[in-house]
Amino acid sequence: MPIFRPRPLLSLIGRRLRRNGSARKRSEDALAESLGKLREAREALQLYTKIFEHSGEAIMVTDRDNRIVAVNPAFVRHTGYSLEQIAGQNPRLLASGRTPPETYVALWTALQDKGYWQGELWDRNRNGRIYPKWTTISAIRDKHGTTTHFIASFTDISERKAAEERIENLTHRDSLTGLFNRHNLEIRLSQALLSARREDQFLAVLLIDLDRFKVINDTLGHPVGDQLLIEVAQRLLGCVRESDIVARQGGDEFVVVANTLDSPAMASLVAAKILHALAQPYDIGTDRLHTSPSIGIAIFPGDGEDAATLMKNADAAMYHAKEQGRNNLQYFTAELNAAASERLRLERELRLALEQNQFELHYQPQFAGDASDFVRPQAVEALIRWRHPQHGLVPPDRFIPVAEESGLIEAIGDWVLDEACCQLAEWKEAGIGPRRVAVNISVHQLRNAGLVKRVGEIMQRYHLAQDELELEITESVAMSDPASAIAQLDALRRLGVMLAIDDFGTGYSSLAYLKRLPIQVLKLDRAFVRDIETDENDAAISAATLALAHSLGLKVVAEGIETEGQSRFLRAHGCDLLQGYLYGRPEPAATLAARWRVASTNV
Ligand code: C2E
Ligand code: MG
Ligand code: MG
Repeated sequence: MPIFRPRPLLSLIGRRLRRNGSARKRSEDALAESLGKLREAREALQLYTKIFEHSGEAIMVTDRDNRIVAVNPAFVRHTGYSLEQIAGQNPRLLASGRTPPETYVALWTALQDKGYWQGELWDRNRNGRIYPKWTTISAIRDKHGTTTHFIASFTDISERKAAEERIENLTHRDSLTGLFNRHNLEIRLSQALLSARREDQFLAVLLIDLDRFKVINDTLGHPVGDQLLIEVAQRLLGCVRESDIVARQGGDEFVVVANTLDSPAMASLVAAKILHALAQPYDIGTDRLHTSPSIGIAIFPGDGEDAATLMKNADAAMYHAKEQGRNNLQYFTAELNAAASERLRLERELRLALEQNQFELHYQPQFAGDASDFVRPQAVEALIRWRHPQHGLVPPDRFIPVAEESGLIEAIGDWVLDEACCQLAEWKEAGIGPRRVAVNISVHQLRNAGLVKRVGEIMQRYHLAQDELELEITESVAMSDPASAIAQLDALRRLGVMLAIDDFGTGYSSLAYLKRLPIQVLKLDRAFVRDIETDENDAAISAATLALAHSLGLKVVAEGIETEGQSRFLRAHGCDLLQGYLYGRPEPAATLAARWRVASTNV
């Protein structure tokens, strides 16, 4: 029997050895495993970094206090901000102010309750561009449920929005003219009514129907009719303000909603503009076509509180306009019609007056404060008159406002300038009369960029010298748009024109302010002159104005002097020029010239 039984020992050692080896092996395996995990984690991290870096979506990470800690390159591209510029700041620096506040409330509620929010925000990028973005925000929480970070990602959806708008336009716009269609009109009119009610203002619904359109369509064919409608749409857009609504109801019916009116009568200004614009001939292909509109007007709130009632009443008024003989406007409410038709008549007659030379100028003398004779004036003011075929001589206050509103003042003012300068040249030639003529300029003329060129041309045509032409502008005109008024006045002054502020004292401007304008003359309003003898305040104001004007180097003309007492007071205070019925009413040039001739032969 073998005594040595090595096997168990060997197996024991072997087992032990094996046991030791497997322990090492196990720890090696564990090491390998955790190394693998580490590698995996690192790879994952690299992958996430790549995703973060290369994502087309802008990504922003903020900490628990919502301070920006990381942004990716897409974010930098979209917003224009680098991390250095905004790190540590609250993302509200990206906000544009256009996102409704409720959206932010919903956003934070959702983040708190669900840890997640998705929706549309309007932000502003670094260049100032405001854009819509589709945003997803998630709250990142640790194992205790405490929020540690927020991750926001977004894409710019400006283009999608624009496409949506195009689609909306297709469904809400009239395909022929591009104006709003009936459906959109209803929506917009209701919105406009809400704001008119809120702002306590009037609103006018103008229903416009083209006269004789059916005849044109039937005889010349639909393509011609279509062209005409397109042109009408364009002209309508040219007659209204941007905030007004212009829609095509269908066929040859259009609707204009004029917003934010101060009075119902203002609707007739818009209507008159439309009547005139649409009545001009239409050149379509080789045809010259004529049509005219009939306009029915309903006013909120007087003629209806809601869209349907206003539309119905505008429609009734429009039929009334058609009955009245087309090319006409009618209010739904009878009382408003009288004023509107009077205004319309006046505008038509003014156009005719221009064509038929029914205007004339009268001249009122201005004498020097220390004059020895009151025959030959220093200057005259040209004052327009309208010799109406039926009503005789019409004073300017009756038609200048309408001429201004209708834009006719441009042509009328032009005529006045030319006529007055021509007259002065004639007097100079004859060796009689004043050295200067003063012409009144209205606000529209002063705003017209062509005024300076026009004045220059006229002065040249009649060889007028420095300070022979004076332009009078009212205080309110000079104040209405000071910057551009100053530029225009400077240019006029460079031409050698004298500049006067008319009706001084009726507005709110201070002399100190007016001195910033390149003016030489102040015309003290006749309202002050009238009561100079009886009202201590008026006397004090006039005396102070004279003293102050002189200290600023301005000459003063007093208007409306009717009594010796007024004249004495003004002269005692050094008034430079005197104008008023006491010294002469406005008269035609021929009458004045006759008197001056007699005076010069008597010398
Ligand atoms: P204005 O420029 O202040 O003209 C003075 C007005 O006072 C004139 O009225 C004149 O006839 C009147 N007047 C003069 N002296 C006396 C007086 O002693 N007593 C009274 N009660 N009135 C006197 P008119 O001619 O009716 O002109 C009124 C306004 O019409 C002018 O006021 C001027 O603003 C405007 N106007 C006149 N002609 C033109 C023009 O050609 N173009 C423009 N844009 N406006 C004009
Ligand atoms: Mg004047
Ligand atoms: Mg005046």
